[in-house]
Amino acid sequence: MTPRLKIIAGNWKMYTTPTEGDKLADELITALAGIDPGNKRIVVMPPFLHIRSIAERFNGVKHASVGAQNCHFENEGAYTGEISAAMIKDAGAEYVIVGHSERRQYFHEDNALLYKKVSAALAHGLTPIYCCGETLVQRENGSYFEVISKQINEGLFDLMPDMINNVIVAYEPVWAIGTGKTASPEQAQEIHAFIRNLFAGQYGHEIADHVLILYGGSVKPNNAAELFGMKDIDGGLVGGASLNAADFAAIVHAA
Ligand code: PEP
Repeated sequence: MTPRLKIIAGNWKMYTTPTEGDKLADELITALAGIDPGNKRIVVMPPFLHIRSIAERFNGVKHASVGAQNCHFENEGAYTGEISAAMIKDAGAEYVIVGHSERRQYFHEDNALLYKKVSAALAHGLTPIYCCGETLVQRENGSYFEVISKQINEGLFDLMPDMINNVIVAYEPVWAIGTGKTASPEQAQEIHAFIRNLFAGQYGHEIADHVLILYGGSVKPNNAAELFGMKDIDGGLVGGASLNAADFAAIVHAA
């Protein structure tokens, strides 16, 4: 089997003005300049407003792309305040996060809606990074395998095999996002192997062996190498630490 890529994606959330975003992007380009990309891909995911400008800045940077943090499921229409996958793609992005736990929690996005968003992203040539993960209560009451299985089944598994090939999964335990608590490499590996196994059951081993599964939840320069060294962890979705160019570059270096 050809080794899987490692993806390091930085989710800027609702941080940085466009001016600050341009500055952070320039700092990142400088910080990443000395790193051999090897089989790594870097994705920067700023707020929508910044995408075009940052995509232009990253244009000449090999192995780096820009992504969005959400999209609407329709191509266009009377959906005031929304942004479609077609618009995101045209602005220069290649990736889009779908189903981040903050969207599930604050905007009540459920698996059925997320399936429509994943489909829209794929239809417009964007690679969706589909997030799943359990809350602290679900971790503690032992229902987390069931929760994750439902999120993956309902959000992804109606896709045809030629489409699922273009999906990336991010396992993000909600209790580890922005809390400074990280899943141990063994805890994360257990869930990543479980997710890969779900893919094998639905689509067969060939597809399961190739699907990229990222870990997210307080990834920092001091824990990245250990997490990314696990067999089924194919990189990270990084929140807080992606807002600091030196930290993000150190995480990329660790991959
Ligand atoms: C995230 O926003 O997806 C995330 C994992 O955040 P943090 O790294 O800050 O926990």
